[in-house]
Amino acid sequence: MLDTNTKMQRMLAGKVAIVTGSTSGIGLGIARALAEAGSAVVLNGLGDMDEVKRTRVALEQATGVRVAYDAANLMDPGETTALVQRTEKQFGRVDILVNNAGIQHVSPIEEFPAEKWNAILALNLSAVFHATKAAFKGMKERKFGRIINVASAHGLVASPFKSAYVAAKHGVVGLTKVTALEGAEFNVTANAICPGYVWTPLVEKQIDDQAKAHNISREKVIRDVLLVNQPNKKFATVEEMGALAAFLSSDLAASITGTALPVDGGWTAH
Ligand code: NAD
Repeated sequence: MLDTNTKMQRMLAGKVAIVTGSTSGIGLGIARALAEAGSAVVLNGLGDMDEVKRTRVALEQATGVRVAYDAANLMDPGETTALVQRTEKQFGRVDILVNNAGIQHVSPIEEFPAEKWNAILALNLSAVFHATKAAFKGMKERKFGRIINVASAHGLVASPFKSAYVAAKHGVVGLTKVTALEGAEFNVTANAICPGYVWTPLVEKQIDDQAKAHNISREKVIRDVLLVNQPNKKFATVEEMGALAAFLSSDLAASITGTALPVDGGWTAH
């Protein structure tokens, strides 16, 4: 008999997953966790193609599952649909869809560029809809689907200067609920993960930039600027996001649907 750890590690054996925006950060952490749990994975995102290839091959070798890469630009609804269709053709189906790709722009409303608003809504919200629409029919027919939308604490509460991001992420939480209701009788679940600050290369860069801008130490930036709203004063990790996504993808999470799960060190408990 397998011990509990081994069972958990293999709980997604035979599944096929797409993780959008998985060439770095949270998406890559989730892709790694799904592959370690036995699921084939299609990576997606922008970046240096040599580096993407190295990541893909390393993940495949480390986990023994099939790992592919699809370069779809999710700003384009047609390419988003095609990402799902190509995966269905290549792997036979899509069992797990992780909508993670996202961008940010910070500016007061009166100065917020319209093109930034449109881009953030297109990638952070509309692409989630287009990918879900493309994958939903097959999932319902096969009576298995796991849709995981990486929203944000900003899907639940607001901060100033992030109008497009907060609007898009609140939209993702709403879309997640509708998806959950429509999928419920078909064993297709939909949940939103709502991280606070997560330790990614993007955040690392912000620390140095802010330290220079305010002429304060890295420690002060972390505690008093970045994590000012995060009561545990700790960044979450991409491994934590991966572990939650792997669990939500499993059979054991069949009754968890329509939720927006904060992973924010207590931020949204305020
Ligand atoms: P990241 O910049 O490291 O990763 C973003 C990914 O999206 C990359 O793989 C990038 O190539 C991809 N991407 C960007 N534009 C794309 C496009 N047009 N088409 C396809 N892929 C595209 O960022 P991250 O911090 O890992 O963020 C991932 C998700 O988590 C985002 O939705 C973000 O809003 C959310 N999030 C992040 C944090 C955090 O603290 N890092 C907190 C809450 C929510």
